[in-house]
Amino acid sequence: MDLRSWLPRAVDVIDEWAATFGPFTPHPSHQVDDDTFAAAYARFGKRLQDNYPFFHPRYAGQMVKPPHPAAVVGYLTAMLINPNNHAAEGGPATTEMERECVAGLADMFGLPAHAGHLTTSGTIANLEALYVARQAHPGKGVAYSADCHYTHERMCHVLGITGHRLPVDGAGRLDLDALRDALAGGRIGTVVVTAGTTGLGAVDPVHEVLPLAREFGARVHVDAAYGGFYALLAGTDPTIDTRPWSAIAQCDSVVVDPHKHGLQPYGCGAVLFADPADARHFTHDSPYTYFTDADLHLGEISLECSRAGAAAAGLWLTTQLLPLTPGGLGQVLAASRRAALRWAELIEHSTELRLYQRPDLDIVTYCPEPEPARLSVVDAASEALLRAGMNAADDPVYVSLLRVDAADFRRRHPEVAADADTARIARSVLIKPESEEYLGTLHDRVRHLVTANR
Ligand SMILES: *Cc1c(COP(=O)(O)O)cnc(C)c1O
Repeated sequence: MDLRSWLPRAVDVIDEWAATFGPFTPHPSHQVDDDTFAAAYARFGKRLQDNYPFFHPRYAGQMVKPPHPAAVVGYLTAMLINPNNHAAEGGPATTEMERECVAGLADMFGLPAHAGHLTTSGTIANLEALYVARQAHPGKGVAYSADCHYTHERMCHVLGITGHRLPVDGAGRLDLDALRDALAGGRIGTVVVTAGTTGLGAVDPVHEVLPLAREFGARVHVDAAYGGFYALLAGTDPTIDTRPWSAIAQCDSVVVDPHKHGLQPYGCGAVLFADPADARHFTHDSPYTYFTDADLHLGEISLECSRAGAAAAGLWLTTQLLPLTPGGLGQVLAASRRAALRWAELIEHSTELRLYQRPDLDIVTYCPEPEPARLSVVDAASEALLRAGMNAADDPVYVSLLRVDAADFRRRHPEVAADADTARIARSVLIKPESEEYLGTLHDRVRHLVTANR
């Protein structure tokens, strides 16, 4: 599908609908003529060139890519109406689309009955899950791993909850012995597990955490903001351990970000609660809203008020074309996964690069082979790779960095001397399926940059 033909259709569809309400005169206060606009738009277009090519597989850095064209057309069309999914009267059509999308996401994780809604971000979605955790276990703390997203520590602070930071094992997953000790202390009400950590893409052993947490009467919240859509491949891709993914169905809450692996523009996270009764923690009344629909309005089960109905529209239209199935959206993730596995293998066999650890999902972590084998050399060489890649004007390549502790590094690579407390390594999130075909070029380019900067 070509945006050049579909973007004007968005305007047509809304114009046709608007015409059914009869003519009116737009106010002169906000009229702008085409010449004035053209000048501002030219300046705007220039400003936007100051960007990194997130769309291109030569960008292999952070977890960013443009939305699917269907998401763009869906979002833009709905935005011309600008529905507000806070309450059904703010946008009946997009409220229904949101409910259907949320049911689809719950189904992807095998959650039975559920309450949930889209959010502006994974951060807000996690805040809501931790808020419910606090209401369910007042006075108790929240345990999370040292590799979880920093948002959990911050949101515990915001909510006045004591956070318990637990160590990770040699693969970046929550350490179960440490968790048992923490639970036995009697001060933990909720355990956060991450299905796809932001740094390494590590998947915590949800299936082992769950029975342990239950033994001590604790809730389990799954932060699957990045990795959640990999649930589509569990059971069909033999390289993915199905056990943590199947266990999510028995957990209490789940966060997933359609604006990461769900092909959506920013402004689209989601929080799901397994028990619909958890919605009671959001109970409030509003003197201005909630008049048109007997069902719970989305704003009645969330902390946010105004929210883009267009975000639900974009997700709904995208999933009509790429449904939440292994053969639909799953194929997009499958290509990313194959690219990550293949690159990890190429790196393991290269003399210029060293693989930090095997990827659980599609995030590849590595560093230039340090000569001499010291952490300070790892750090400097990784940073040099990042700079050399982005400054190579005619053939740039973009990676990102991840700071790791000396102890974590040496658990994987004991022969590298710890002459520093931490080191930065290279991190490439292969979030685009196009990375698969481009991989040979990417690998050669990164190797070349490493050798040239020795
Ligand atoms: C991205 C991410 C978040 C934060 O989500 P935002 O949408 O960026 O606010 C939280 N947890 C994990 C695991 C993430 O990858």
